[in-house]
Amino acid sequence: PGGDSPLIRIENLHRHFGGFRAVDGADFEIADGTITGLVGPNGAGKSTLFNVIAGALPPTSGKVFMDGEDITGLPPHELFHKGLLRTFQIAHEFSSMSCRENLMMVPGQQAGESLWNAWFGRGRIAQEEAALLKKADEVLDFLTISHLKDEKAGNLSGGQKKLLELGRTMMVDAKVVFLDEVGAGVNRTLLGTIAETILRLNRERGYTFCVIEHDMDFIGRICDPVIVMAEGRKLAQGTLDEIKANEAVIEAYLGT
Ligand code: ADP
Ligand code: MG
Repeated sequence: PGGDSPLIRIENLHRHFGGFRAVDGADFEIADGTITGLVGPNGAGKSTLFNVIAGALPPTSGKVFMDGEDITGLPPHELFHKGLLRTFQIAHEFSSMSCRENLMMVPGQQAGESLWNAWFGRGRIAQEEAALLKKADEVLDFLTISHLKDEKAGNLSGGQKKLLELGRTMMVDAKVVFLDEVGAGVNRTLLGTIAETILRLNRERGYTFCVIEHDMDFIGRICDPVIVMAEGRKLAQGTLDEIKANEAVIEAYLGT
């Protein structure tokens, strides 16, 4: 990882709701190996943009490329197999499962699902289960929450849940992970742990990140570059210090 080749390229992307242009001609790139910040006033269109990139919402027009390949409008499971992931809150129905079980749920096509395997593949299923269990425990260890492996996900604090959500991206071979306000409502200590985890995933596993966050200390600590979005498109890009000194950016924030 590293270098300047764009892993993700957004080209003149639009997403309108009726006559309202939530995303209005967004153009930018996410370079391979970066932790790119995405900031901007409330209503700038950041979450809508993520939803379009991650296949949850079709664009009104425009293109999304990954490694040069047109991935516009692909469904989330296809993007998942290409290594493009967006974290989701732990769904209610998984809250009574343990942290370990939540991680083991992630890989899509488990051997046990096919009838052939159900009849003839019992040995293989047991092997795959064991491998999955080992991987889940490694992920919990990486996240420094091994002691919570048997805890129900529903009993975790907000920050611990965010860590578990990050952990789910480690159960597959992720290339690029989109995080929408991962620090919202999380205490300082755990926010630091989340920042550290993102940095380690970037350095040790080569993950590229695009991170929406309001907390500028968090952004400054882990993100370079930072892209500022306002009124549905890119307004500025640079280091945090550069964008903080940018007149247009200051105006966009004051205007809301
Ligand atoms: P941000 O994440 O930057 O705060 P959003 O992408 O959530 O911004 O929202 C951008 C604008 O689009 C907001 O004005 C919001 O009300 C509007 N919007 C988002 N989703 C919908 C929707 N499903 N229908 C109508 N308007 C929407
Ligand atoms: Mg948002």
